[in-house]
Amino acid sequence: TSAGSSSSTARSAALIERARSVTPGGVNSPVRAFRAVGGTPRFIASAEGPWLTDVDGNRYVDLICSWGPMILGHRHPSVLSAVTEAAGKGFSFGTPSENEVALASEIVDRVEPLEQVRLVSSGTEATMSALRLARGATGRSKVVKFAGCYHGHVDALLASAGSGLATFALPDSAGVPDSSAGETIVLPYNDVAAVEAAFAEHGDEIACVITEASPGNMGVVPPEPGLTEALRRITRAHGALLISDEVMTGFRCSASGWYGLEGPYDGGAPDLFTFGKVMGGGFPAAAFGGRADLMGHLAPDGPVYQAGTLSGNPVATAAGLATLKGCTPEVYARLDTVAHSIADAAHTELSAAGVPHTIQWAGSMFSVFFREGAVRTYDDAKSQDTAAFSRFFNAMLDQGVHLPPSAYEAWFVSASHNDDAVEAVLQALPAAARAASET
Ligand code: PMP
Repeated sequence: TSAGSSSSTARSAALIERARSVTPGGVNSPVRAFRAVGGTPRFIASAEGPWLTDVDGNRYVDLICSWGPMILGHRHPSVLSAVTEAAGKGFSFGTPSENEVALASEIVDRVEPLEQVRLVSSGTEATMSALRLARGATGRSKVVKFAGCYHGHVDALLASAGSGLATFALPDSAGVPDSSAGETIVLPYNDVAAVEAAFAEHGDEIACVITEASPGNMGVVPPEPGLTEALRRITRAHGALLISDEVMTGFRCSASGWYGLEGPYDGGAPDLFTFGKVMGGGFPAAAFGGRADLMGHLAPDGPVYQAGTLSGNPVATAAGLATLKGCTPEVYARLDTVAHSIADAAHTELSAAGVPHTIQWAGSMFSVFFREGAVRTYDDAKSQDTAAFSRFFNAMLDQGVHLPPSAYEAWFVSASHNDDAVEAVLQALPAAARAASET
């Protein structure tokens, strides 16, 4: 089949109806439900390289890439063989195993400030645990986060959080007690004065500032030059920790993540980092880490408790390790080429159709905002024309290109996006840009 060759979505439609009876909204993560863009979520049956095939036999160029992890493309041969080999030896032991050491070493070797990492199973777990560690190590409870930054569905971090919450325009989540959210100070992104003011008022109560290394969950909004250094300086002056969330940027923006592009910083590195997505290669693996003295507060050596039945799972760690090993300089060069080809063409076609838009970058990570002018904050991001995005999204989907179903997400590419896949995207763009321009 060629891209979008079959227009039937009958099986996906039947499946989402069945799914709705047994799963809330029919999905296990809200953005998958297509609420923001309308239409039938496609149930994917298989994937290979840059291609997704749905249960009706339609084929799509994949610009979700599992929201980041599939940086080498689907079923990459070396990852597949590492996974098969690991699974052939057992699925989970609940004891230490060698792959855990190998994956931890690979991460520590790549990101210079890291001395130790602990492996967990999701990005949410990584940020939740980093937060607990920061509170445990400082003996303080307040947390500063930035509007539009998403750090997973951690109680204390579900305030002005971007991602699915941006998609649904929920300011917050029900079920988060005031006692949790009340310890969270939400500040506008890229606003050093606001950080100074919060510390002037609460400096001795703040355990940490957590920030996306370069935000991707309100669309791609890179830190302005000097922001990270300013956060480092202010937190250090007040005895608070700085947590850099690299769940999305880690091993995608560069071989050593956003830190590899922007660091080392005058005034020192962030105290803690969190990782997920790429380092799990499509399996549930994530991590948080930092200096050994800080990580030493964790059980069993220290008083901060954190654990997991499946933490360091042998199959997940094999997938992650093979993926990181596969992230060669050639891979990053290809990501760059693919991302720029697609972004340039999107800019050309949206301009030709008269659709206001802005494209922003963090390394080879990019997103398209359906508004004019630089996006520096969550408020800027929210002022885009999400209806235009929805028309664009659906026109792309109809032509066999599967974008993330939200205007607030990066467009993820992989090194397996070959010239055929890129060409299929370029072919689809003119009609989608015209669809976006129709009101
Ligand atoms: N932090 C960031 C920066 C993320 O992008 C995400 C997921 N999009 C998370 C944390 C949460 O990760 P997970 O979905 O694996 O829990």
